[in-house]
Order: sequence, then C-alpha cells, then structure tokens
Amino acid sequence: MRRPFRLSALCLIACASQSPKESRPSGSDGQVTATVDVPWSEGAEASPLAQLSDLGVDNVVVIEVDTLRLDRLSFYQSARDTMPNSSGRTGWVASSDHHSSTSWTNPSVATLFTGLDSHENGILTVGSSEEDYSATEAPLVSEHLAESGFITAFFNGNGSLERTNLHQGWGFARNVYDDPGNGVAIVEAGLDWLDSRRQGVPFVLHLRPSDTHRKWAPMVADRGTFVPIGQLPFSYSDDHDAQEAVVIPLLVAEDGRSEALQEQLSAVYDEEILGLDRALSLLLDGLAQRGLSESTLVVFTADHGETIFDRGIDYGHGWALSEELIRIPLIFFHPSLNNEVIDGCASESWDLYPTLFDMLGVEPMIATHGGSFLDNCRYDLRFSLYMRSTEGSGNQLSALAFSEWPSKLVLDCQTSVCKAYDLTVDPLETMPESCTRPTVSEPMDQLLGYRSEILATIPELSCDVVE
Ligand SMILES: [Zn+2]
Repeated sequence: MRRPFRLSALCLIACASQSPKESRPSGSDGQVTATVDVPWSEGAEASPLAQLSDLGVDNVVVIEVDTLRLDRLSFYQSARDTMPNSSGRTGWVASSDHHSSTSWTNPSVATLFTGLDSHENGILTVGSSEEDYSATEAPLVSEHLAESGFITAFFNGNGSLERTNLHQGWGFARNVYDDPGNGVAIVEAGLDWLDSRRQGVPFVLHLRPSDTHRKWAPMVADRGTFVPIGQLPFSYSDDHDAQEAVVIPLLVAEDGRSEALQEQLSAVYDEEILGLDRALSLLLDGLAQRGLSESTLVVFTADHGETIFDRGIDYGHGWALSEELIRIPLIFFHPSLNNEVIDGCASESWDLYPTLFDMLGVEPMIATHGGSFLDNCRYDLRFSLYMRSTEGSGNQLSALAFSEWPSKLVLDCQTSVCKAYDLTVDPLETMPESCTRPTVSEPMDQLLGYRSEILATIPELSCDVVE
C-alpha cells in the first residue's frame, strides 16, 4: 500500500519537541507522549506475507548476513546476477520493504535479538576496542525460544559480537571466522549441528556469515567473475587483516578513489555475494537431503547494508542512515512459495522474530515493540536511529531517520539540523529539502508511539517551516 507524499508531516514531527500541536496528546511537561506502543496501522490491508502462516513449519533457519544491501541481489533485479543458484530455484518470496534499525553490527543484532530499540536494550556503542563490552539486560529471543521448548544454535562470523552478551541463551553457540567467505563454513557447521541435534524437537538455527563485510576477498572460486583479477590494483590475500592492509591505503590515498577503483571494488563486493549464494544453496540442498524442506522455513536477511561509493567517495557502514545502509533483504524459502517479490509490506528488523514466533505458535515476548507482519502490514513507515560513542562523552544519539515512503526525514542530533528527502527523485539523499504545511498523518502519529519520547530528548531541533 502506498500512502500520499507527506514531507510536511515529517517536518512537524521533527519540530514536535519544540512546539507540540493540539492534535497530539501532551504530558504535563508539554512534551509529546506515547499513544500507542506497537504502531500498527488500523484498517491496513491484509498482509501479502500472510501466506507464510499457511506453511505449517515446525523449524526455522535464519541466515542473517553481516553487511548486505538489498539492491545487489538477483532477487531484487540487481545489475549483476549475484545469486543465480538460490534465485533460480523454485520456492521463495522476497519482501522489498524491510529495513534495519541502524547501520552497524552490534546495535542492529541487539535490536533483532530483543525486539527493542538500541536505547532500550542498551547495546548502542560503536565500540572500537576489546574492552568496549556492552551487555543487554533485556530478554533475548534465544532465551524465549528455549523456554518455549525449542532447541537452538547460533553460528557467528563477526568477532564484533564478542563484545556483547548476544551469544547468551542459545543452546549451542560457536564463532566461525574462516576467511574468505565464511558463509559456506558456517552453513557446514550448521548442518553438522542439525545432524547431532536431539531429533523430534523443533529447532531454530541462526547463522551469521560475514562474506560481504569489508573483506575485499571473494571465495577463490568466485574471483574474476565480475572483474578480471589482473585489473585489480592489489593481490588477493586469504587473511582478512592482510587484505585490509593492502586495500585501505588505496582508499585513503588522495588519488586512490578513482572511478576505476570504485567500480573494481563494487564488483568485488558482488563477487563476495556469490559466496553467500553458494552457502544458501548448500543449506537448502542440505535441508532437502535431510527431509527437512517441508518442515523448515529458511529466512535470508542482513544486519545492515553497505555504502559502496554511492556518493562518489564513501565506502563502509556505521555512520549514517542512508537507504543503502538500512534497506536490507528479507527472503523466505519454502517449497510451497511461488517466487514472488512483494512491495509495500513495510517491516523492521525487530519484527522478524515476533513474526517467526507467530508462525511457530510461540507466545509473543512481552517486552518488544516489534510485531508479526503475517496479519497486518504497516503503512510505509520506517524508523531508524544511529548512535555512536564519541570520546569523552559516552553514548550519544547521533541521528534519527523516519520515512513514510517516499518521503524521509533525517535528524542530525549533533548539529540539530533536520533534512527532508523525496526518495523518488533523490534516492541518494544529496538534495535535502525544507518542509511545508505541517500536518501529522494518522499512521505517522501511530508510528511515533513511544518513540516520540526519543525526539523529546533532542534539544533545539531546527526545521525550516514554510507556510
Ligand atoms: Zn554488521
């Protein structure tokens, strides 16, 4: 469902902490207060993802890739055919309106595993040092699954999570740091776990490959597919640190970010996705060989995306909320699904596990804001936040983004500047606009819910309102 363009509504919300309107309930301090905890839209059309509830699955395998943007996958008509094996088989449905809560690993995974925003689950720092450990006290989906009678396992390919307690609660947890292309190794480990598990008990297996996480090293078999190896200004190394030591100086050199280099590294990223395609196919074939295809739903998603020279010079993630960083794949695999891409069913990463609980007949977790998207789709409302730790000042909310497709508002909490974008004409978010005619749409009002309290904590937001 597409809603009318409402750039003006976004502006009012940006300014709400300064001048709450009559139409919104206010607390005694004049700040906007929450009206709805879970911002479901009244009267929403039936969810096109409701078909998932008819599958009758007992088990789930989630592949949550570290650093994978949606638009590079064959399922979403990417320029290069990066996932020929998995998209070429029958039995999948892909949603094009799923997005991450933030743009770097630990807070993204924390939101996924708690159903709570970063400021609530407590895992929000960038954390660049070994000592920078942050733990959440919020209940975890792993713990909830165990209490609900599932056996679970977690295989993780990014060491950053070791600085959190997000391994907690899984029945079995292991790190698999093989380079390059740990997706295949992680799937192999997951299949081994399936063979050793207690039979007859429903299971949830969560896999976190990191093939596309700034390694600049595709699996050996995939090198040269999209860019001839001889054209690259570096040699491949199977050691992640050694590879970074070669490529990063090229990126920071004054004349290093040539268009040729940008195109080469972009092609290398797509070659890394070929390894994920290999891993995903290995998993699907492995489930079939074990007679588990019908009873198991496979979910393929990501923690956040990646900027790949989208604006000419920038590469990486973790500093912003632009679309290529927060728009992530969400693809379901089951023999009964009919190879379809669904537009307009907006969901966030914190909705994924509540949806899986709904599908598996597990009671909802009490302390989550996410909800199942099997019954209802939200309007095209999305919310992300980015927090970073700046030296000497601790954790700070750095930026907030709201979008009600195709309008998007980004609030820079450090500079108190808000910027509005129309993503249909400005997909790269390089032309911020000012706002006009403030009105609040009903869906946006509901979406804000408790999150309006976050906005109220940002002082002196400035937003040019032009009547
Ligand atoms: Zn990540």
